[in-house]
Amino acid sequence: MACILTFVEQRDGKVRKGSLEALSEAKRLATAAGWDVCAVLVGSGIEGEATALGSYGASAVYVVDEERFARYSAEGYAAAVRAAVERCQPEALFLSATALGRDLSGRLAARLLVGCIPDVTALKLADGKLEAVRPVYSGKALATVEPGGAKPVVFTLRPNVFAAEAVGGTARIEKLPAIPADIRAVVREIVATGGGELDVAEADIIVSGGRGLKGPENFALIKALADALGGAVGASRAAVDAGWIDHAHQVGQTGKVVSPSLYVACGISGAIQHLAGMSSSKIIVAINKDPEAPIFKVADYGIVGDLFQVLPALTEEIKKLKS
Ligand SMILES: Cc1cc2nc3c(=O)[nH]c(=O)nc-3n(C[C@H](O)[C@H](O)[C@H](O)COP(=O)(O)OP(=O)(O)OC[C@H]3O[C@@H](n4cnc5c(N)ncnc54)[C@H](O)[C@@H]3O)c2cc1C
Repeated sequence: MACILTFVEQRDGKVRKGSLEALSEAKRLATAAGWDVCAVLVGSGIEGEATALGSYGASAVYVVDEERFARYSAEGYAAAVRAAVERCQPEALFLSATALGRDLSGRLAARLLVGCIPDVTALKLADGKLEAVRPVYSGKALATVEPGGAKPVVFTLRPNVFAAEAVGGTARIEKLPAIPADIRAVVREIVATGGGELDVAEADIIVSGGRGLKGPENFALIKALADALGGAVGASRAAVDAGWIDHAHQVGQTGKVVSPSLYVACGISGAIQHLAGMSSSKIIVAINKDPEAPIFKVADYGIVGDLFQVLPALTEEIKKLKS
């Protein structure tokens, strides 16, 4: 039976939310087409995570569980996913458009000699074929793309756009034999920054600060509102370039692309390169003292005011509401 194969990304043995979203979308489309859904999970000591993927719609999970795959390696993971592709011969291959997913998808498409449609925000079936919508020109336009050529076409799905839905069900787990892979670059160590803070790429609520904050110490105002809302701290490139906050927080064309349920932009003008990273957020709130700031063009709610007055008052009210 035709199927959609989803690469399920894990970090430190935990499946990432974006992959569950991709798997759920695969299930939704496959159900409409009468296709099957398979998943491939690569890592070390991750076999236990495979079972749960059945409840997100996978009927088969191919597991590559080897010590040398404990950390991501482009060559190794591509070889592992290829083994799963050969096993189930899918119509399409889905990955979440995370940094890892973007890296792996291009390599896989090149190795499989197939097309790659990145950063997809909507998918549908038209005449039995998958059709994708993706933002182009920094989000100024939406392109509808119909893949042609050899299968499986590789799609990366923007995180936080598609709903992850547990639908129940169990998967057949199949451990793939040792993968022949010529791993030329090995990651020896990962030094985490940010002390376990919530990653903007995965957060459902983001409060971001820009140059309007005037200095690094004022990110405390952003953090206080983010904590009150249970969200993550984001930033514009101006704030990152000024050295006020780490690049891991940067949202935009040269930062992370986010689609949270709520995005609060504070002291951010709304340059096109910033909008490219956040304009697909479900609700956008902008706080800016300039009523002409372009951010208000994309905002659902706008507060024209001084963030140094608005932010503490807003944080206080949220805390009161939540207590
Ligand atoms: C190739 C390229 C890639 C880029 N990639 C990115 C990217 O990934 N992400 C990104 O963000 N940018 C990116 N940029 C930079 C982008 O063009 C803008 O320069 C940047 O987004 C501006 O950041 P900002 O809005 O914080 O600062 P500004 O544009 O200086 O805006 C500051 C805002 O704060 C407001 N403000 C000031 N004081 C207060 C106050 N007290 N209360 C309320 N509001 C106040 C001002 O009215 C103003 O609107 C890129 C640029 C290039 C050329």
